[in-house]
Amino acid sequence: MSPADTKEIYGSLVFNEHVMKERLPSATYKSLKATVQKGQPLDLDVANVVASVMRDWAIEKGATHYTHWFQPLTGITSEKHDSFISPMKDGTAIMEFSGSALVRGEPDASSFPSGGLRAVAEARGYTTWDPTSYAFVKDNTLCIPTAFCSWTGEALDKKTPLLRSMKAVSDQACRILHLFGKDIPHIDVTVGPEQEYFLIKKEHYEKRQDLILTGRTLFGATPAKGQELEEHYFGALRPEVSSFMQDLDRELWKLGVAAKTRHNEAAPAQHELAPIFDRCNVAVDHNLLTMEMMKRIAPKHGLVCLLHEKPFAGVNGSGKHDNWSLSAPHMNLLDPGDTPMDNLQFLIFFAAVIKAVDEYQDLLRMCIAGAGNEHRLGGGEAPPAIVSVFVGDDLSAILDAIASDSEYVAPQSVKIDLGVDVLPKFAKDNTDRNRTSPFAFTGNKFEFRMPGSSANISDANTVLNTAVAKELKGYADELEQGGDFDKNVIALVKRTIRDHKRVIFNGNGYSKEWVEEAKRRGLDFQPAAAEALASMIAPKNVELFEKMGVLTETEIRSRCEVKLEHYSKLRHIEAVTMMEMTRRQLIPASVEYMTVLADGIRTKAAACPGISCRAEEKLLRQLTSFTDAMSDDADGLEGQVERAERCTNALERAQAYHSLVLPAMDALREAADSAESICGREHWPLPSYSEMLYYV
Ligand code: ADP
Ligand code: MG
Repeated sequence: MSPADTKEIYGSLVFNEHVMKERLPSATYKSLKATVQKGQPLDLDVANVVASVMRDWAIEKGATHYTHWFQPLTGITSEKHDSFISPMKDGTAIMEFSGSALVRGEPDASSFPSGGLRAVAEARGYTTWDPTSYAFVKDNTLCIPTAFCSWTGEALDKKTPLLRSMKAVSDQACRILHLFGKDIPHIDVTVGPEQEYFLIKKEHYEKRQDLILTGRTLFGATPAKGQELEEHYFGALRPEVSSFMQDLDRELWKLGVAAKTRHNEAAPAQHELAPIFDRCNVAVDHNLLTMEMMKRIAPKHGLVCLLHEKPFAGVNGSGKHDNWSLSAPHMNLLDPGDTPMDNLQFLIFFAAVIKAVDEYQDLLRMCIAGAGNEHRLGGGEAPPAIVSVFVGDDLSAILDAIASDSEYVAPQSVKIDLGVDVLPKFAKDNTDRNRTSPFAFTGNKFEFRMPGSSANISDANTVLNTAVAKELKGYADELEQGGDFDKNVIALVKRTIRDHKRVIFNGNGYSKEWVEEAKRRGLDFQPAAAEALASMIAPKNVELFEKMGVLTETEIRSRCEVKLEHYSKLRHIEAVTMMEMTRRQLIPASVEYMTVLADGIRTKAAACPGISCRAEEKLLRQLTSFTDAMSDDADGLEGQVERAERCTNALERAQAYHSLVLPAMDALREAADSAESICGREHWPLPSYSEMLYYV
């Protein structure tokens, strides 16, 4: 593909602004634009025109079907395809797509998790078009990004609360901006998610039932070489990885996903893709598409893409850094400018984020909690399960000065070689390099580093938007009372910093000391996913979501239930997979090898009476003991799974999976990994860590 082609294909499968402007009658275009910009409802006449133009365009792109593309509570995206075909009486057919089919769909929703929101008998739910995210053609199907609700209006998906939270933060930010004399109808939340992933050979993947069924290796002895040499990060790409990345970029560009940066990550066989940031809901949709494309394109290159947070024990897990900011036309609200001390508007938005993170630490922890991330957090190269904010030394000094009423001394002015004093400037780069913080200010945006690689980041952004909206609301309520505006703003910022200073931490978040220090500061530390998830229904959190119009109590309770159930189900699948692999693959392999050893000893002794068989006998004994342990531990695991399954309450069941089943899984793994490390290579049925991570 030539660089010129790149320009040509970018967005070629997207019904974007350019296509709309070119193809829609101008009145229709204007009214659709008003809908998109101001959130006005779409009139059916307009929808009919849009639908017919969209259909013709999609057919030109090879589409035969259309689908409402939505984000259910578990899984990533869902789609049910309908063809455009409409048969006529004379035996022919026309291609039909009406405005009502564009704006509303009715998938049979009975099998989607709803956490008790919907009994199966009243399973109807409907999808509605989100016109702020462009429709696109994928797999010869016109995909229409939609939100998914029940007939009684409850959100059944992840997009609906996200859109509500974007509105909440926009409304409150506009109130603040109004106080600064800026009248702006709405502001945008911008998000740029960096996606980490692993690529391994398809032939290895296919031999591992654990990877196929659970996305991670449940067994695997530690390889002789881990990531200690740190040679993979930004290293040269393997040829098949390079061609995968080129193919992926090309497909993403066609879909209008601005894939920008690609490189090798810290762990062997780990990589990253970062797009250029976009409006929050669009960035989420694009991230979901990116994950789907990664999975789909890898096999064409003989590879499989693993999006699990911890596919391999002992090496880095994968995350999804959520870069987040607020943007008004021509202005990033989190840009401190050259002199943040004098920039009251920046300080107030910045303070609101600090306050939000401190008051809703538990919710930020909750929204990234899950079975996969439970293995990653606190592991190498991942932040611990404690939420804190990194602001960098310069900003810290500014905040300290404000909080203590002392004078702020800017960093030394820099002399350049002309001998001219340069004005002291805020050194943005200083803020950029703490990689150990879960929530870092990186110059003009915050980077939330806790979300896991497989997550739908709607959850993380919904929480972030809602919590910040609530703090901005509190500030606006107070400042609108009148008085000396500048003084009041400073007082607010000062109070915020004083009250919420504990959440600011610029040190090494990976260190053991930090866990102790965080406890002393009274910060939440919740390593287990189940408890973290349950915090969603804490009264203060229910109040937050309700007050900001993002989720009702019923919706929150159902979501919490779904998340807890999902956790238990995933652990259940993992445990059962382990038992099955142990009993049907690993023990038989081990027994087979032991038989070879025993036969060998007998043959050897017969051929040469009195000969030493010490090595073989030693191996036989060791392997016997590991194999016995595997057998016992598999039975033990089965018992713990039965105990967990007996719990009728979702939280208790998830807790039981964590506290009873996980340790039993660890024990079984230890026995199996010990057996692997001494079993003959030809006899062990699973590709080893070395083979998978260091493929050539
Ligand atoms: P690093 O790896 O150094 O953290 P990357 O360049 O890989 O940085 O990714 C940074 C991400 O942050 C990109 O997706 C980028 O588009 C995004 N980003 C930059 N500015 C903003 C902003 N104002 N709002 C949201 N995301 C942003
Ligand atoms: Mg990066």
